[in-house]
Amino acid sequence: GGDGAMLRHLARKLRASGPVTVAEYMREALTNPGQGYYTRRGGVGESGDFITSPEISQVFGELIGIWYISEWMAMGKPSAFQLVELGPGRGTLTEDILRVFKQLASVLSKCDVSVHLVEVSPKLSEIQAVLLTGGKVQANPEDECVYMKGISKTGVPIFWYRDIQDVPPGYSFYLAHEFFDALPIHKFQRTEKGWREVLVDIDPQVPDRLRFVLSPSRTPATQNFIQPEESRDHVEVCPEAGVIVQRLASRIEKDGGAALVADYGHDGTKTDTFRGFRNHKLHDVLSAPGTADLTADVDFSYLRKMAQGRTATLGPIKQRQFLKNMGIDLRLQVLLQNSGDTATREQLLHSYDMLMNPEKMGDCFNFFALLPHHRLVHPDKKDKPESKSPLPPVAGFNELLLK
Ligand code: SAH
Repeated sequence: GGDGAMLRHLARKLRASGPVTVAEYMREALTNPGQGYYTRRGGVGESGDFITSPEISQVFGELIGIWYISEWMAMGKPSAFQLVELGPGRGTLTEDILRVFKQLASVLSKCDVSVHLVEVSPKLSEIQAVLLTGGKVQANPEDECVYMKGISKTGVPIFWYRDIQDVPPGYSFYLAHEFFDALPIHKFQRTEKGWREVLVDIDPQVPDRLRFVLSPSRTPATQNFIQPEESRDHVEVCPEAGVIVQRLASRIEKDGGAALVADYGHDGTKTDTFRGFRNHKLHDVLSAPGTADLTADVDFSYLRKMAQGRTATLGPIKQRQFLKNMGIDLRLQVLLQNSGDTATREQLLHSYDMLMNPEKMGDCFNFFALLPHHRLVHPDKKDKPESKSPLPPVAGFNELLLK
């Protein structure tokens, strides 16, 4: 163990077989089964390395819970749905959503709800199990797919998986909050000789120090991932995010449901966004791998391209706008009125500011959704435009209409 173990492991590997792609480096640093950052630390939260919206305010998860109920109603109240969360962190978001589901039990009364968590980190899945079930879980060593199961404090069955492909098919609402930004990216640099991939290598001058180098020629990734019309000089691509979005889109097309993706990102315009966080401070991505969170902005234009055809997409829309549309201002007023002491009120206002202020998380975080085509356009709209009642708008991307 120890914080130098990952670096020594990588240095040995680089000396033996040469530089690796940034994607391979990121995968090792974050999810190596023995020494990866998420495997060992997974520092989400105030005491960790980075703080996320669900950890800042319960209102965030509650409004997302309302989004799913609103979509469930708009889609004709199917008799069952799975809530599938990718990378649930400490489990806070799911807990806040389940609280809303319980509060609105009369609305959901005849619906069979189950929760499916996709999590690779044993450490974080343990934290999730304690928070969501009070620790009453069954480990499932025989089952290749479901590695743990339990019942939430609100009575909903919960299952844990390592891969989205292990989640059973069925009508599902998917959630990915700060998940895609943790997946490995490839980095490319335009040079006079054409596109080159950025690689991670050992520094020959300093023992056990890493450095970036450019591939001497094109790599398979430069051929596959750079668009011919690309105008930027530096590009980051996350093929794993592309594969997962393709899976989500085909599952939604086949079995119904929707996916909500929330992350910081851009629409195919940014260049160098790869960075590290440790103890809430920026951290050199190449130093002490395994001890810091590594992350890159999500390219929503790429996700849209990967979904295309199979589902419709909405967004990206800024977090500030999405939460406003979901009624965060009204929710804040109610909570302020119900809180007796000044300290609680100040806390509520402070967390609202963190989520909504354009200088804080309001502008850089975005919401993006995958929805079945028929959710946005009547299948026979072209032929008989007047024959059907209009489809209800999708909340968050439009104002929430409460009936
Ligand atoms: N959604 C949470 C946590 C974000 S941190 C929040 O917003 O607070 C990223 C999460 O994704 C962690 O739970 C991490 O363990 C998980 N994760 C990272 N890579 C993963 C992968 N390849 N498959 C499944 N989960 C992964």
